[in-house]
Amino acid sequence: MSGLFTTLESFVKGRDERAFSIEEAVRHYLGRIEGLDSGLGAFLTVNPNAINRARQLDNRLARNPAHSPFYGYPIAIKDNMHVLGLPTTCASRMLANFRPLENATVVERLLKAGAVILGKTNMDEFAMGSSTENSAMGITRNPWDTERVPGGSSGGSAVAVSADLAPLSLGSDTGGSIRQPAAFCGVLGLKPTYGRVSRYGLVAFSSSLDQIGPFSRCAQDALELTVLVSGPDGRDMTVRDRDPQEMVREFDGSVRGMTIGIPEEFFGDGLDPEVAASLEQAREVWSAEGAVFKPIRLPSARFGVNVYYLIATSEAASNLSRYDGVRYGYRSLSSQTLKDMYQNARREGFGPEVKRRILLGTFALSAGYQDQYYRKAQQVQSLIREEFDRAFHEVDLVFAPTTPTPAFRFGEKLSDPLAMYLSDIYTISANLAGLPALSTPSWPTRSGLPVGAQLIGPSWSEGRLLRAARVLEEAVGFRTPPIAVQATGGKTL
Ligand code: GLN
Repeated sequence: MSGLFTTLESFVKGRDERAFSIEEAVRHYLGRIEGLDSGLGAFLTVNPNAINRARQLDNRLARNPAHSPFYGYPIAIKDNMHVLGLPTTCASRMLANFRPLENATVVERLLKAGAVILGKTNMDEFAMGSSTENSAMGITRNPWDTERVPGGSSGGSAVAVSADLAPLSLGSDTGGSIRQPAAFCGVLGLKPTYGRVSRYGLVAFSSSLDQIGPFSRCAQDALELTVLVSGPDGRDMTVRDRDPQEMVREFDGSVRGMTIGIPEEFFGDGLDPEVAASLEQAREVWSAEGAVFKPIRLPSARFGVNVYYLIATSEAASNLSRYDGVRYGYRSLSSQTLKDMYQNARREGFGPEVKRRILLGTFALSAGYQDQYYRKAQQVQSLIREEFDRAFHEVDLVFAPTTPTPAFRFGEKLSDPLAMYLSDIYTISANLAGLPALSTPSWPTRSGLPVGAQLIGPSWSEGRLLRAARVLEEAVGFRTPPIAVQATGGKTL
């Protein structure tokens, strides 16, 4: 990878040995963004204060050498989390000029540890989508094949790490928005247990499913970042008081003796044969390292997409009702009456997919239909949860594909919302059950497109998931996408 450092550990070593200054490290990444991002479109905003902050950190470092590993570490943030001093647009016209009044809790914790925010990354508008094509600010390209989507909704954060425009980034995952783009871009993406990480300062999409998590090049870095941002802050009452160090303790060790469940429902029709072949290779690695595989059943998982598009849209319709162009958000200048003003703000401010979700959710919650749709969906959600609970009496982890296919081409699914929704068929169940899940790179397809292996665990088992991911990562190795190689003049980083 880059000449400076590849992992948090190598950064800390270089920083503490003064092999480079924090300013040099930050300039290195800003330079890569400048050189590559016009072709990729991962960033919506580059932080104009990044160099100043790096200098301040360098000055303090000279006086006081003992610091968090994140001291001086450059990181990219999805544009639905608040960073003071930068806009939070959610890639929507509605929030194009919105500036937050405070930092998200995760950002606050990063800054307190000394991290440097490089900028804000592109996403599907309000995190609704699977390709980042729903951004009102333009598309983001997959660095492995720039004619293909990076996945979504956290496409910018995935590309930033994949193309080494940032060593680490944060995304959010409501139905797969970290894991699916991680799979498409050949990086690791982790969605923590619901209640592990505070959502304070994350713009709400579906509050009972949203969770913030890392993109990284290795399991160790994902672990460190998750530990740093985890735990209660008193501003999100759904965060549970779990000791983040439990993840560190569970991370150590091998997969020897681990039982990994294979749900037959996830490996059937609709799974691309090249993805299936790659995952078979991954399974062999874990087997060779001493894991035991066992078939399991998760029969209700097949209703996951249906359940998700009722629950998530219902919550979205309610969460997005606040964008009325009065308190904040886009205001249409062409309105004659108050009602006009509300209507025009929403008509002009929201893109088509967001409107579709609001309509679906409003319908699902409307009088007379609520029991038929919303409550029914909640009942099936309980079944999905119970089936996972039962499975975790027999197995330590569940192994599944992250996505049915590798990255698709631009436009391929844009006109068919259902086809787009089906991209999340394997990721959605973990959100509905509140479980931690990750996608880690498996072997690429013959044409060189990344494939993701998904692991789902019982609540609070992030450490175990990352342990299994590290075993696979040692066998697969991190691969550099062609576009990043180009930027170094053909030299393999
Ligand atoms: N692709 C899914 C959707 O469009 C999931 C998005 C997400 O996780 N934020 O809703």
